[in-house]
Amino acid sequence: MFKNADGGEEPTPTYPHLFDLDRHHLWHPYSTMPGLDSWLVTGAQGVYLDLTTADGERITAIDGMSSWWAAAFGYRHPALDAAAHKQIDSFSHVMFGGLTHQPAATAAERLLALTHPSLANVFFCDSGSVSVEVAAKMALQYWQSHPDPSEHKRTRLLTWRGGYHGDTLTPMSVCDPDGGMHSLWTGILPQQFFLPRPPDDPSTSLCPSSQDPQQENAAYLQQVEQMLNDHGQEIAALIIEPVVQGAGGMRFHQPELLRRVVELCRDANLLIIFDEIATGCGRTGTFFAYEACDVVPDILCLGKALTGGYLTAAAVVSQPHISTVISRGTGPFMHGPTFMANPLSCAIAAEALQLAVDYQQQGVPRRIERELREGLAPACDIPGVRDIRVKGAIGVIELENPCTMVTATRAALDKGVWIRPFGRLLYTMPPYICTSQQIATICDALCAAAQAEHA
Ligand SMILES: *Cc1c(COP(=O)(O)O)cnc(C)c1O
Repeated sequence: MFKNADGGEEPTPTYPHLFDLDRHHLWHPYSTMPGLDSWLVTGAQGVYLDLTTADGERITAIDGMSSWWAAAFGYRHPALDAAAHKQIDSFSHVMFGGLTHQPAATAAERLLALTHPSLANVFFCDSGSVSVEVAAKMALQYWQSHPDPSEHKRTRLLTWRGGYHGDTLTPMSVCDPDGGMHSLWTGILPQQFFLPRPPDDPSTSLCPSSQDPQQENAAYLQQVEQMLNDHGQEIAALIIEPVVQGAGGMRFHQPELLRRVVELCRDANLLIIFDEIATGCGRTGTFFAYEACDVVPDILCLGKALTGGYLTAAAVVSQPHISTVISRGTGPFMHGPTFMANPLSCAIAAEALQLAVDYQQQGVPRRIERELREGLAPACDIPGVRDIRVKGAIGVIELENPCTMVTATRAALDKGVWIRPFGRLLYTMPPYICTSQQIATICDALCAAAQAEHA
């Protein structure tokens, strides 16, 4: 890349105006204004990003983040490009009120072929956060629609600490209270019920631990029982990320623990919402993380890799008893975003689901898991490293201290890899199309970043 049509090197362009405009007029995620210098992307192909700095430095780097876990099949995937072109030449968008179309039907059909048979209804919406809003609203409307009026007081949600569910207000109310600067929002966000963070799954850690998971899990389940005894009748639903807590801290718990928590919640009549926006489409090794826990949620949220990172889209898949109670009780489910089931995103999602199935059948996430375990093991000896853990195609180095983003990013780029650390975490969720060599390069870059942080 960075070659001109004749195969020679292009002259290095500089973009003073663009960088100036960016710093002073464009908000970036979780940033102040004016912001820090960003890297400019001038191209993206396969696993690679072409990056340029304000002073004209250029690097082609493997995207170790899959663009925040969405571009799971890499950039410019021929099948996804073709699906997008085909649909854009037909029509890009129509309203979904009173109208329907083939891309929505095909995407829903493919999705339902993958989910458990008891999940039967699909609500397409704009983004992960919105899908969590929709899921929460469904659960709340379900109880308001319930024929037994004593159930109408189920108006709160239950979750555990360490979670992340998005940045709009309802998802924020169930995000980890510390990570989300909670004190700022006291009295503004709805108050939900929080269980402690679930105990870690020691089998995912590459560093020796003295934990006794049996004992920890038993103690944890007692706390769940206590919570449900005290407040179970006020709670509409449990909402959690199964198996992997992502942006809330990149922590993994035992599927068996989750199954027991869900059992207790079901005994107390709670609905179960699983947020698989990050874990869906094979990321943890099974197609959906819930498969490993042997439980089927009442409501399932999907996003991120759903369109292979091409367009913003999410889906809420639910069991029919939800729609039955709502439709017979309070009537219509009152949600309907402008871009609901956008045909372009649905056409791409239908294709992306097919790709996800192919990579799953080829055992790609499991292969990447083995390669991450092997490639990250040397980091155990780096001073300042607290833990290393791997689950499916997710690799994490946790440091003792918070990272200085600039140092770690630079060290990884020097090895040819783009990462975006947060808090004490250096991590990767590589695209499934990575070769074994590219996974080794990513591991090498993460180790270099950990080393640079300590230096
Ligand atoms: C990213 C994420 C969200 C939010 O999705 P957006 O598309 O960014 O709104 C919600 N839940 C989980 C688990 C996520 O990883």
